[in-house]
Amino acid sequence: MKTKPKGGTRPCRLHKPFIRRRSMVVFMDIQKYKVTGERKFDLKSFDTKPPSSFNPEDTQSIMARNTAELSELQSKLYAQGKSGLLIIFQAMDAAGKDGAIKHVMSGINPQGVHVHSFKQPSPKELSHDYLWRAVKKLPERGKIAIFNRSYYEDVLVVKVHKLYEKLNIAERCKAEDTIEKRYRQIKNFEEYLWENGIVTVKIFLHLSKETQRKRFLKRIDEKDKNWKFSDADLRERGYWDDYQEAYQSAIEATAAEKSPWYIVPADKKPYTRAVISEILLDVMKELNPAYPSITSEQEDSLAEAKKKLMKG
Ligand code: AMP
Ligand code: MG
Repeated sequence: MKTKPKGGTRPCRLHKPFIRRRSMVVFMDIQKYKVTGERKFDLKSFDTKPPSSFNPEDTQSIMARNTAELSELQSKLYAQGKSGLLIIFQAMDAAGKDGAIKHVMSGINPQGVHVHSFKQPSPKELSHDYLWRAVKKLPERGKIAIFNRSYYEDVLVVKVHKLYEKLNIAERCKAEDTIEKRYRQIKNFEEYLWENGIVTVKIFLHLSKETQRKRFLKRIDEKDKNWKFSDADLRERGYWDDYQEAYQSAIEATAAEKSPWYIVPADKKPYTRAVISEILLDVMKELNPAYPSITSEQEDSLAEAKKKLMKG
């Protein structure tokens, strides 16, 4: 008779990849990308590249697993209708916002999600307070809203180009510290949302200047990608350091336990997408939605309806 090898049975070869994939999911440490404002924040200390341990081939399995779980959680969020989720994407051009959003959307019930892109404000939008256009696009409880750019542009591009100086606004509002005031307003606004059932999560796709250069060149060289490139993109690239500084200040000022920022490495798209799906899963699990329980009267009326239907 054969004896059992010491230390228990060895996993058979067939199980090995599964074990490796499982551990990939478990060890994808997204907490290191989370900024809650508790500690000093330094954007430069965050990676734009994935860790060397990451195997791009694992992306598919991570995403598939997470999508299935996310979809189930979203159904519960929708059915319960008690919490809404606002996911904000901010980044430099060519960081992969559009692609990342497309991936997040796949597998989620479109009925419960709304995506909105914030472009240069129209004259009408400029005649309102800067949060006005965002407020109109907030999710109702039970739903998810994805913002492709957001009111954060009002402390980023507006800061870099001092656009607040051009506003047609009362003199008393034209202070030097407009941007500082907006940090406070945004922080209060997100706290207000939290207290009214809407959770805000902010994702910064952290791209290196070199990767942006390569992606811009690709957009110029590949005909199908030409539409993605504009002269304005190159002009804004000239303000790279100013933007990094603006992100540093905005993230530092608005990161909070209840509305955290995630600084996601954006130089390799498969990794970016895997991390984003992990973040969303984490956030949804934290919300812990459940299907609403029914009352005994509802149970009775269901039984009654079933009886009638069974009769044909
Ligand atoms: P894209 O997302 O690449 O299509 O570009 C949209 C452009 O609109 C970006 O250059 C943003 O900086 C700009 N934008 C978005 N919101 C604002 C804002 N509040 N003020 C000025 N420019 C903005
Ligand atoms: Mg652009």
